[in-house]
Amino acid sequence: MPFPIILSSPSGGGKTTIAHKLLAMRSDVGYSVSCTTRPPREGEVEGKDYHFLSVEKFKRGQKADEFAESAEVHGHLYGTLRAEVERVLASGRHVIMDIDVQGASKTKEKIPDAVSIFILPPDRDKLEWRLRTRGLDSEEVIRRRLDTARREIENYSKYDYILVNNVLEQSADQLRDIVLAERLLRSGAKPSGEEGQRVAIAQACRLEQARGRVQPILASFNPHAVKVKGT
Ligand code: 5GP
Repeated sequence: MPFPIILSSPSGGGKTTIAHKLLAMRSDVGYSVSCTTRPPREGEVEGKDYHFLSVEKFKRGQKADEFAESAEVHGHLYGTLRAEVERVLASGRHVIMDIDVQGASKTKEKIPDAVSIFILPPDRDKLEWRLRTRGLDSEEVIRRRLDTARREIENYSKYDYILVNNVLEQSADQLRDIVLAERLLRSGAKPSGEEGQRVAIAQACRLEQARGRVQPILASFNPHAVKVKGT
């Protein structure tokens, strides 16, 4: 049975790239295109990256209960359409839902059979570098996103799996392995030899195993830790 996959990361964490790599690798995974009231960025395509809606239209959708979940993020409205999730599941594919960190636990409560995955940057410096080199945001926005990232990462224990994005290709493979491990777990099927190795990689990303890896990442976002390093 296909299942929903909640995917979150701080801005610049690599979630979109990793999700696209997985989609290119696996035909049994689809993507739920979210709705947003923020204006499109350069290169973004209506219906592919987002459905770009006016605030009025978005609110009408909320009233009509068209959204499986919706939230305000960075001053704009975002939401996952029920019809979009159902469309992908009905085609027999697992469905990736891009959900902000605040919205993820609420969504998990509403859709308990969803698996939730948090993608983390390796540390603060790498995240800052990624935000700067992608060249999408002003200095002020970068500062705000870094500050938000720290608060978001503090919520890591609400997720089923933690994926530290060191190398994009490896992260996409790990995401694929998590989907495989969940599929096997839910069907009760025994992993074959090669699948066993991939399930072990996925197990290492489970929250209980990954806690130790999150602590140094969180510490890199702590201004006191940075101060001590520099003295
Ligand atoms: P961006 O504007 O940078 O594409 O996304 C901003 C934030 O909105 C990200 O944290 C992203 O995960 C989140 N987001 C994107 N789509 C949705 C959605 O459908 N629902 C919720 N709750 N958050 C979303």
